[in-house]
Amino acid sequence: MRPESLMMTYGYKPSLSEGSLKCPIFQTSTFVFNTAAEGKRFFEVAYGLSEQKEGEEMGLIYSRLNNPDLEILETRLCLWDKAEDCAVFESGMSAISTVMMEFCSPGDLILYSRPVYGGTDHFINNFLKKMQIDSVGFSPDDTEEQVIAKINATGKGDRLALIHIETPANPTNALIDIEMCANIKKHFSTAERAVILSVDNTYMGPIWQHPLKHGADLVLYSATKYIGGHSDVIAGACLGSKALMARVKGLRTFLGNMASPHTSWMLMRSLETLKVRMDQQARNAIEVANFLKNHPKIEKVYYLGFIDEQGSEREKKIYHNQFLSAGAMISFDVKGGEKEAFTFLDNLKLIKLAVSLGGTESLAEHPYTMTHTDVPLDVKNAMSITEKLVRISVGVEYHADIIADMEQALNCIQS
Ligand SMILES: *Cc1c(COP(=O)(O)O)cnc(C)c1O
Repeated sequence: MRPESLMMTYGYKPSLSEGSLKCPIFQTSTFVFNTAAEGKRFFEVAYGLSEQKEGEEMGLIYSRLNNPDLEILETRLCLWDKAEDCAVFESGMSAISTVMMEFCSPGDLILYSRPVYGGTDHFINNFLKKMQIDSVGFSPDDTEEQVIAKINATGKGDRLALIHIETPANPTNALIDIEMCANIKKHFSTAERAVILSVDNTYMGPIWQHPLKHGADLVLYSATKYIGGHSDVIAGACLGSKALMARVKGLRTFLGNMASPHTSWMLMRSLETLKVRMDQQARNAIEVANFLKNHPKIEKVYYLGFIDEQGSEREKKIYHNQFLSAGAMISFDVKGGEKEAFTFLDNLKLIKLAVSLGGTESLAEHPYTMTHTDVPLDVKNAMSITEKLVRISVGVEYHADIIADMEQALNCIQS
């Protein structure tokens, strides 16, 4: 069965909860053991002192280690990416930072695509730097040879521990080839040291792109965005093999940054409509992008659906190999600069002026002065993040209403 058919029931047994159709919120910090021997056994397995035996039922211990809402949610999230295991966190940043701290040690090198999410960039260039973990960035235009040369130029190729990428890149939808990064990972991995490839799939996932299929080891999400989908919860997720996830979950246990029962329950509710929401958002985005493309006050539209007409051969190849949809994130340059972009933003009525993305409501923002304000100027210029750029997260509203709102706001710009 497809994941969307399983999101209402998978992994939950009503008979264990008084027949309740929906999974209750298990708002408890701790769980009662039937016997002391049982408690001993649960701890042995939870702390990795002993393996779970074939057919052995494990019970619950304490909500920092395991909780029914958290575990059922994780089981369901695995279905979309066909992952062996999943860990849900109290934010996207806690998922990302936990992975980076688990797989990098002082003296190591981290390679990352630029631009990455601002919080990720800050964590790499401030906290990890303080921990003596160096970093090197690459851009979506770089070829495999150029990226390898950048790593070698640091003199620390033998200490490359983690490759972290975001594709498409926020906010201009530039593409990064996951398979190219998997090759780079192989190039620098040795028998003793496997380089880890993690992909932040927040923009596309878990419906429109499945990085594990293309050679990624870990896939990361800000579940605040499409997975939560209603702009009412902050959460994150990491998925991958059982072996790698045992390490991620191990560190999560001691950092204590797992999602709460309530957050997990909210996300389970969101997952029931994930597919219909995202399908509708992608359909709306096609209409919005076509409207923007022909508008006289707009200079350029950054939308994956236009790659076949506007992209290079390389972009077309990555797009068709990696993406199942053009998604619902659109950026565009208005003719003019900050003044014209702000006039548009200040005159929107239905679409709200806010950062974040992936929710049911359409949102608009100005990356240059908001989400990407502290991106270094050279990176901003290289990535076409300028004063005239506006980013839209397309929601589930009726497409003609979204377009009418944009049209009237564009009309407020004096030509
Ligand atoms: C929002 C976002 C994050 C951070 O997630 P939080 O849930 O806000 O901590 C990370 N990566 C991307 C691509 C994002 O959009």
